[in-house]
Formats: sequence, C-alpha cells, structure tokens
Amino acid sequence: MRIDIITLFPEMCEAVMSESIIGRARAKGTIEVNCIQLRDYAFDKHKRVDDTTYGGGMGMLMKAEPIALCFEDICRKTGSRPHFIYMSPKGRTLTQDRLRELSKLENITILCGHYEGVDQRLIDEFIDEEISIGDYVLTGGELPALVLADSVSRLVPGVLSDDICFSEESHFNGLLEYPQYTKPSVWRGHEVPQVLMSGHHANIEKWRKEKSIEETKNKRPELYEKYMDSRKGDS
Ligand code: SAM
Repeated sequence: MRIDIITLFPEMCEAVMSESIIGRARAKGTIEVNCIQLRDYAFDKHKRVDDTTYGGGMGMLMKAEPIALCFEDICRKTGSRPHFIYMSPKGRTLTQDRLRELSKLENITILCGHYEGVDQRLIDEFIDEEISIGDYVLTGGELPALVLADSVSRLVPGVLSDDICFSEESHFNGLLEYPQYTKPSVWRGHEVPQVLMSGHHANIEKWRKEKSIEETKNKRPELYEKYMDSRKGDS
C-alpha cells in the first residue's frame, strides 16, 4: 500500500511514521508513506495556502488550488487516482470495519486540514471520503491522519509478524479483547488465572472467549448488544 499525506507539517508526520512497527514496514518496503509539504504547491508569489472566508468570520480557510495541484501531482506519480480522504470532524467516525476495507486499497491520499478547514469546492470536486477520529475538534489534521495511517498500515499483510496479532484484538470481531498477563505469575499477591498456565489450549480458548464477551458487556454495552444481535439465529 502507498499512503500520501498532504500536510503543512511533513516533519511531524515523518517522525511518527518512521518509528517502531510502521518504520520497519516502510524500511522493508511493505508500505510506502510520503509526507508531502502542501506549500510546495502554492505557486502565488507569497506561497499562501490559506485565505479569509467569504461571508466574513475570524478564521482562515485552506485554498483549493494548492491542494488540487498537489493531488494531481500524486496521481501523475502513481499513475492512478488514489482514494482521497479528508480528515474532518464532519466525517464518518473511523471504525475497524472501515479500516479493513481501506487496507485493501493500493493507494490512499490523506489531506490534513488546518485553520477553519478547506474550501468546500475542493471537497466537492476531489474528496472521496471525509473521516473523523471522534466527536471533538483538534487544531489540525495531522494527528487524525496519523491515526488513520497507523491503524490502516498494521492491517496490510506483512506489516505485523502474524495476522493473529490483529484478528484476536479488540473490535476485530465486534468484541473487546480478553485480559492478558505476563511474568511474574504472582505480582504483589495477584495471581495469573490458573487456566492460562494449564497448557490446555481448548480451555484457554474457551476462557478467553468468555472473558472477551464479559469485558465487552461491562465496558461497551452497546457493542455487546450489537454482537448478541448478530448472533441471533446461530445454533
Ligand atoms: N471548522 C471546522 C469545523 O468546525 O468542522 C474545524 C476545523 S479544525 C480546527 C482544523 C482541521 O483539523 C480540520 O480541517 C481537520 O483536518 C482536522 N480535525 C479536527 N478535528 C478532527 C477530527 N475529530 N477528526 C478528523 N480531523 C479533525
């Protein structure tokens, strides 16, 4: 998968996307990530990427043309038209299901907004999807874009060492993950559940499934209801 991030702060995105699992996946060539400086596509003499809003108001808005030129350049370089996502508090809230679908795409481009956001005409003409990371407002789109880029990258085959790493995780099958423990087996008087040390794989699997359901019921009752509804009709 190739991910292009259009941003006014490429160093910020580059720093996050160079570390740990994602950094290693980039080094191996499993994923390609490009953090692109939008200002490089501002061709007026002041290199401006923002301007005042029609109708008045305090804030500035990102201009359409530099973004259009930047995206058209990405299209030329990839020889395709990447799925173009604008990170926005007005978008659909990101979910693991949507990430799974996005992880199958070859090219995605993510636009980080700033100030009051982006000229609506750019959104209408170019953007395929607006994605929000939650019902709150950040100062800019970089953190949301990095949330999306990280969470979609780890679903690309080969990024994690084993697919089981995510197929047993919270939200993969509509449930939260079961509790986990590491050494020592007794910590400050608290013991690891015996079944996990029994070596009996079927019992361990059964315990984990039960705990996963219990965890979801206690912490996210709305997810639990959805899960139970989805199982209606199962024998
Ligand atoms: N005026 C906009 C509004 O009320 O919808 C908010 C603009 S916000 C201050 C600046 C930028 O941060 C947005 O263009 C967007 O790219 C990003 N942003 C802020 N909150 C976000 C969220 N919850 N999810 C995704 N992106 C967000």
